[in-house]
Amino acid sequence: MSENTSDNKKSVVKTRNFIHEIVEKDLLEGKNGGRVHTRFPPEPNGYLHIGHAKAICLDFGTAQKFGGKCNLRFDDTNPSKEDQEYVDSIMEDVRWLGFDWEDRLYYASDFFDKLHEFAVKLIKEGKAYVDDQPADIISQQRGTPTKPGVESPYRKRPVDENLALFERMKNGDFPNGHCVLRAKIDMASPNMHLRDPLMYRIMHAEHHRTGNKWCIYPMYDFAHGQCDYFEGITHSLCTLEFEIHRPLYSWFVDNLADSDYRPRQIEFSRLNLTYTMMSKRKLLQLVEEGLVSGWDDPRMPTISGMRRRGFTPASIRNFVEKVGITKTEGMVDVAMLEHALREDLNKNAQRVMGVINPLKVIITNFPEDKVDMVDAVNNPEDESAGTRKVPFTREIYIERDDFMEDPPKKFFRLSPGTEVRMRYAYFITCNNVVKDDEGNVIELHCTYDPASRGGNSPDGRKVKSTLHWVSATENVEAEVRLYDRLFMVEDPANQKDSDFRQLLNPESLLVLNKCFIEPSVKNAKPLDQFQFERLGYFNVDKDNSDEKMVFNRTVSLRDNWAKQMGK
Ligand code: ATP
Ligand code: MG
Repeated sequence: MSENTSDNKKSVVKTRNFIHEIVEKDLLEGKNGGRVHTRFPPEPNGYLHIGHAKAICLDFGTAQKFGGKCNLRFDDTNPSKEDQEYVDSIMEDVRWLGFDWEDRLYYASDFFDKLHEFAVKLIKEGKAYVDDQPADIISQQRGTPTKPGVESPYRKRPVDENLALFERMKNGDFPNGHCVLRAKIDMASPNMHLRDPLMYRIMHAEHHRTGNKWCIYPMYDFAHGQCDYFEGITHSLCTLEFEIHRPLYSWFVDNLADSDYRPRQIEFSRLNLTYTMMSKRKLLQLVEEGLVSGWDDPRMPTISGMRRRGFTPASIRNFVEKVGITKTEGMVDVAMLEHALREDLNKNAQRVMGVINPLKVIITNFPEDKVDMVDAVNNPEDESAGTRKVPFTREIYIERDDFMEDPPKKFFRLSPGTEVRMRYAYFITCNNVVKDDEGNVIELHCTYDPASRGGNSPDGRKVKSTLHWVSATENVEAEVRLYDRLFMVEDPANQKDSDFRQLLNPESLLVLNKCFIEPSVKNAKPLDQFQFERLGYFNVDKDNSDEKMVFNRTVSLRDNWAKQMGK
């Protein structure tokens, strides 16, 4: 049985990108004593998605390429949205993608004491102050990009008063929102992020790691850059929206550093995929409102959903590699992702026969109790995969679509009077069509040519079509789940004025019962992958049980991307 079929060994990144060029130059100039140290810094407030996979491959891949290190760091500064479940799932997903942070697992919360100390230092130096104004007033006073902000009346508070108030904030003397700690930078700066940004807010909330130790929490922007610094990160790779935060991160680190060492932030464009929503907030809504079955619903763009659906780590890594790293925002065709998946599965997936929309065929001249074990090839792309035996019997199922009573000219599959090949088995000819009272075809009566065993023509006569089939008596009955895109529009994230729920494809999941698969799949386990001949790639779902086998269709066989690319 094929296990997880892809080669999940560490892949050394082959291609170069502009970030690799920057790193190379830094190394040539002898920066950081020749060290390359990156990190992947998720907030544990949701499951990872295919966009994160791009960041993971870049962060870990860059370290690998230059013989450096990559940390996993959870930026866990907002206890109200974070959860251990997310931490666990993120670690599982990064490992599954084939990357290893070894002993370098960090949390921003590891640095809460240090960050607090640093805040006190800034207050002492007159570079931070406690502001008692409510959040909406502070926000109004920030101005607009073209209009300078208004200074807070508390901006000139004496150092001692600030120190005492910050201490009281920390000790829990004030309710949520009573006051905040702000950096004193420049209310007229053209960069809004430098207009006295918040450093700490009061939040009486239990933290998944520090418990009730703190009731003030650092803002993401007051933690992220300093954590990179504390960890000795040399290259902080992040998405473009952080470019405008960079001067603030530098301001903090400049006030903290006692040497020349600085993490160098380099921004790249996020991955956007057609027909795919990547906002964590909206993915959470889909889960919470029951619009999907969970974070790992096979229709979700989450790593866990894609894993359950049958994506392989190698296919995701290859896809990310092909997309490349640039600074231009764009939209990648989801067909390109599916192409990378098919490429991997084609090489590795075990072939079997399964019928998902069955029509019974009775071979009237075939002995009643005979079970004829015919030889079938496991993977034409991989000779070493060998062959297996598949039972052929008097009663078999074929796909309903493969028969037409009154076929048009170009229909070469089964119809009254025509002869076709049952793959690996025999030539059969349809003689009789049995219908129910309403005229629906319920059964076909055919005869077979015993001399065509193995599906070989006994006398050079040709048949125009080869069909897959499953014995009606020797098989495994299964539920098969077919998927289509979760969203009906190409760019669901950018549909102004429409509720994204309205864009969901009502036919994204089709459940078929009474599907029949050849018996060789009987002991397959969740995640085992197959190609059902002519139907697509399938895997065993986690809902699979001894009572009922459950398969997902990972992807159909038709490759639109390869077609477009003229492959
Ligand atoms: P949030 O809205 O919660 O901040 P996020 O998608 O930014 O969501 P993070 O956990 O902060 O999630 O992301 C971790 C890292 O992954 C960040 O460095 C971020 O830049 C990167 N990342 C997130 N989304 C994408 C994407 N679509 N393409 C590439 N990188 C991404
Ligand atoms: Mg983020």
